[in-house]
Amino acid sequence: MNRQTPADSIETLHGVGPALRDRFAKLRIHTLLDLLLNLPHRYQDRTRVVPLIGLRTNVEALIIGQVVDSRVAFGRRRSWLLTLSDETGFIQLRFFHFSERQRASVTMGVYLRCFGEVRAGPNGFEMVHPEYKAFPTKPDAPEPKLTPIYPTTEGLTQAKLASLVGQALRALDEWTAPDLTQWLAESAMDLRSALRFLHNPPTGATVDQLLEGRSRVAFDELISNIIVLKRRQRERATEQTIALPRSQQLGRVLLKRLGFELTGAQRRVTREVLLDLEQSVPMLRLIQGDVGSGKTVIAAFAATRAAEQGCQTAIMAPTEILAEQHYLNFSAWLEPLGVPVRLLTGRMTAAERNRERKSIASGEALVIVGTHALFQKDVEFARLSLVIIDEQHRFGVHQRMALRSKGVLPHQLIMTATPIPRTLTMALYADMNVSVIDEMPPGRQPIDTLVVSDSRRAEVVARIAQACSLGQQAYWVCTLIEESDALDYRAAETTAAELAAALPHLSVGLLHGRLAGREKAQVMERFKAGEIDLLVATTVVEVGVDVPNATLMVIENPERLGLAQLHQLRGRVGRGPQHSRCVLMYKPPLGMQSRARLKVMRETNDGFRIAEEDLKQRGPGDVLGTRQTGEQLFRVADLSIDAHLVSRAADIASRIAESRPDVAESLIATWSPGNADYTQV
Ligand code: ADP
Ligand code: MG
Repeated sequence: MNRQTPADSIETLHGVGPALRDRFAKLRIHTLLDLLLNLPHRYQDRTRVVPLIGLRTNVEALIIGQVVDSRVAFGRRRSWLLTLSDETGFIQLRFFHFSERQRASVTMGVYLRCFGEVRAGPNGFEMVHPEYKAFPTKPDAPEPKLTPIYPTTEGLTQAKLASLVGQALRALDEWTAPDLTQWLAESAMDLRSALRFLHNPPTGATVDQLLEGRSRVAFDELISNIIVLKRRQRERATEQTIALPRSQQLGRVLLKRLGFELTGAQRRVTREVLLDLEQSVPMLRLIQGDVGSGKTVIAAFAATRAAEQGCQTAIMAPTEILAEQHYLNFSAWLEPLGVPVRLLTGRMTAAERNRERKSIASGEALVIVGTHALFQKDVEFARLSLVIIDEQHRFGVHQRMALRSKGVLPHQLIMTATPIPRTLTMALYADMNVSVIDEMPPGRQPIDTLVVSDSRRAEVVARIAQACSLGQQAYWVCTLIEESDALDYRAAETTAAELAAALPHLSVGLLHGRLAGREKAQVMERFKAGEIDLLVATTVVEVGVDVPNATLMVIENPERLGLAQLHQLRGRVGRGPQHSRCVLMYKPPLGMQSRARLKVMRETNDGFRIAEEDLKQRGPGDVLGTRQTGEQLFRVADLSIDAHLVSRAADIASRIAESRPDVAESLIATWSPGNADYTQV
């Protein structure tokens, strides 16, 4: 018999053809092993039989009853209706899709064991399309065994997935799993047993045991990931790039012209960056600094250094608004030094774009600011030696810029305002050097944060009138209703109209994602210039926007956002010498969790503390912003649960890398096959 191995394509399973293969590809499942690493995200207890009188709506339940009625109803949709009864009550089962054969097999008096969600139907409780099995006599409750429920995709049922997983599990016999026994406690399961246990929990397995099995698998994944990152770092160290030593001292000129003194932290981090640039090993450095800590100017010093050597710097921002703002800053700082600065965004006309592309290709443009449009294939750099990525988390964590210019890997500087908890840094950025700006420019005042119910809207509006009467400006942020930016922008439009009516003396602007790029830029410019007093916006103002005269921010429905995002938004105020306030206006009633989260916002301005809380409460997707991009950080590991495993994983990873290349290979083959070529992109 032809035995399958975990590395085989899922197409080798019975019942998987090209159509199903494509569905699996959506889940990033290509091999049997991928399928087995797609762990159940929860388990159902399908063993406790609920008497029909004890049913509740919107809850899944296992029931057993006898068929007392079966008929086909011709309503708006033809449906097959079955009535079940036990000694305690009745329930109706409704099927829209059914075959005659199916109907013939369920005759009066037969017993059904069903599992499904209970709903309120026209005649009492109802289940629509439950899973069921028929028995001639009253069946017993099934053995106490938990049923795995998998993350899946449309067109792939749980039953189908479960049966394919069952087939795939057999292939584990033919598999040499990465052997970590040397580093694990004696009682720890090996990966193979853990997978079997998780996909097919034995009778009596408890939820705690399942959680432990899952962490066991997550641990392997974390180790593997760290090994990959460390390996990438070593590979980078063997690369050669253009070294950027000091020559004309343009940096000193810039320093004098800034108009402010650098903070100690800015000086230290700038030194770290410039020192890296002097090496011929490509830099990969992450700068973490809270909103408003002054990261941009550090980037300017780096770009100036490259320009001194006649080398180009590409600065990539996550949004057009931010790209334009950077463009203004960099031009103001660098053009007087004789360094040509250019802008390249996706919304330029073809002619503008062509002109900029030419100046980039000729090497005339030395600093080029843009969005990801910078890295499209048609943009060729003459001498790109430094890539600066601002607010990196927005690009997705795994999307490291594996970017080469004429075969040379440029230096890379990545800046993020999201303070990343140490465990996350270790697990996700082990290939980078990290600098932290832990000091704010002088004169910054902590932002007062108030949490109020929207029943006090009138007071909040009065506050805006008051702030603006002092010549200050305000933001009003309408939050995103998840999955529906359509509603979101409408909410912003309505709110802007209402506020304009309520505050006739003020000039009210509107900013949302549906505006054309040019319109957005105009609104931002007018706000910056003080022509707009109150800017009503969706969360598009979140990243990097810098208007020091804005002192008041109202955030509607803050309970919908993660803490990291709230902190980012709040960081748009408190940038000038005046006292700033942030009003979090929630819609009651507020749940316990939301209350706790908003309390954190009220209590602290410390981005690191907020990030730690966010990691605990909502998980890394929110801290890193990957929830928005939909990017999956890990297959199994979940850093909000598994953070405590990270430092041990890092330790074991470095020991494996040193002493057991065979184990390292087998881990990488399991968790990130194809990773070997990652750095050669
Ligand atoms: P972020 O770290 O959020 O990107 P920015 O670089 O946008 O912060 O800086 C925020 C504001 O602080 C800008 O207006 C910038 O010019 C100003 N700034 C930066 N460094 C200093 C400093 N050392 N002293 C005074 N103001 C500074
Ligand atoms: Mg910034």
